[in-house]
Amino acid sequence: MLKTFRGVQKFMITLEAEIQHEQLFEGSLAALENAQFAFSWASGLAATQAVIQLLEPGSHVLVSEDGYGGTGRLFRQLFSRYQIHFEFLDFRDTQEIVERITAKTKLIWLESPTNPLLRIADIAAISKKAKSLGAITAVDNTFASPIFQQPLSLGADIVMHSTTKYIGGHSDLIGGALMLNNSELAEKLRFIQFAAGSINSPFEAFLILRSIKTLAIRMKKHQQNALAVASALQSMPQFQEVLYPGLSSHPQHSLAKKQMSGFSGIISARLNGDLNYVMSFLTKLKIFTLAESLGGVESLVNHPQTMTHASVSEDLRLKLGITSNLIRLSVGIEDSSDLISDVQQALLFD
Ligand SMILES: *Cc1c(COP(=O)(O)O)cnc(C)c1O
Repeated sequence: MLKTFRGVQKFMITLEAEIQHEQLFEGSLAALENAQFAFSWASGLAATQAVIQLLEPGSHVLVSEDGYGGTGRLFRQLFSRYQIHFEFLDFRDTQEIVERITAKTKLIWLESPTNPLLRIADIAAISKKAKSLGAITAVDNTFASPIFQQPLSLGADIVMHSTTKYIGGHSDLIGGALMLNNSELAEKLRFIQFAAGSINSPFEAFLILRSIKTLAIRMKKHQQNALAVASALQSMPQFQEVLYPGLSSHPQHSLAKKQMSGFSGIISARLNGDLNYVMSFLTKLKIFTLAESLGGVESLVNHPQTMTHASVSEDLRLKLGITSNLIRLSVGIEDSSDLISDVQQALLFD
């Protein structure tokens, strides 16, 4: 960690008090991913925006098609106007990704596990191939958290986090972070951060530092609870399908086990029923709160079709399988038997 601080310090000619603040905050973020450099941003989307600002007009970018809805919106509706060409693909198929890399491909934007379908991409295989063909790989590691997945050690160039989620952990702040080891890219990102000014407020930096202290223990409990809830849902006839990378029934469970040391706290599931049934289930839940966010200590439930992924076109939603009966749970750190009972009571008809 001390080494990290020296690395960051090299770029800074500023007041000593500010140096100490940046050392503590961005140094702690870097340490989470075992990285040499970290840069904090006003939000996860601001962090993503900074990565795209590394590119020249004319660049081609490959993107996970099943990913955070806001990332797709940022790429399709904003950056495509600046002659950056985004191609959205199914990242479960490594071969397909590799074949799509051309001389113009400068960036691979990878999410794993994805939101909301919890698909897994082979980070090591894709990063290695991309590197050999001259493209950098950035991984949105928000869902896994640095506790369960370390993309830099798998060969990725940049790790992105929405610190709003697990790293913050209490649904009371908005922030983003980029972690990396490449000093050339770090210098460019430091300039973007300095020139564009999209940074955390001091109070949010303080909150994130507070949160980092409990990250490891929170993640352990999130994962324990998620495994208990996912197993319980699987045995309930009202659920058609349960998607959780930690279940042996997950089609990519072995790849998940290979590159992750745990499976985090997000579960998606399909109910056996129409939209009315799903809506009644969602409103009957008492411990799971209906909300878009995730990664906090309190359990949340989300309906991707009408909430987080409403900005995704209907065609793409259908292609991906974001159907009206799909729900996404962000399992908190409550007692797992309370969470399972809550689901059971919400499934009962009045
Ligand atoms: C929330 C989220 C983001 C965006 O982060 P904000 O902090 O809300 O801007 C990006 N990726 C994933 C996977 C997310 O869950």
